[in-house]
Amino acid sequence: MTVREIIRMGHPTLRQVARELTTDELSTVESQVLLLDMVDTLKASGGIGLAAPQINVSVRLAIIEIPGGASRYGEIPPMPLTVFVNPVVEVLGDESAAFWEGCLSVPGLRGLVERPQHVKVTATDLDGKSFELELNGFLATVFQHEFDHLDGVLYVDRLKDSRLLVFEDLLQMDEEKVQDIKQPE
Ligand code: ZN
Repeated sequence: MTVREIIRMGHPTLRQVARELTTDELSTVESQVLLLDMVDTLKASGGIGLAAPQINVSVRLAIIEIPGGASRYGEIPPMPLTVFVNPVVEVLGDESAAFWEGCLSVPGLRGLVERPQHVKVTATDLDGKSFELELNGFLATVFQHEFDHLDGVLYVDRLKDSRLLVFEDLLQMDEEKVQDIKQPE
């Protein structure tokens, strides 16, 4: 299919609340093409998640594919390419943690964002069948970041401190400095 352009922060579509998709709509050729294009676009980008608004289509559809394995976030369980239609996130616990997030729509930057680390996601698949996933740790962060796009929210909106937004080539995992900023005296 087609690798589509990923729109960047400043484009108004990224700030819209996307509309829900009906089961009937999911079976249309338009939806199938949209999904195939999203898969191609995600693969070409090297990212792990893509929401439809990021290719300028304001519907509640997102895909996530996690290669898994060791990373600087620790050992991450892999997840095959999964489609989420009209996903809803429910926070299950008080525990939260901060990760350096990046976004295909905010290229070149990283920001430290704290989010709940235990969530339940309810969504429907392409056949309109409902399913649930419980997620912990970094994966909980990934899903919240991705589904925020469906509400017109970007991770930069969730920074506690604008000093925690940096260019990724300058990002050094200098934990001491991060702690200084996170916990000012
Ligand atoms: Zn993003």
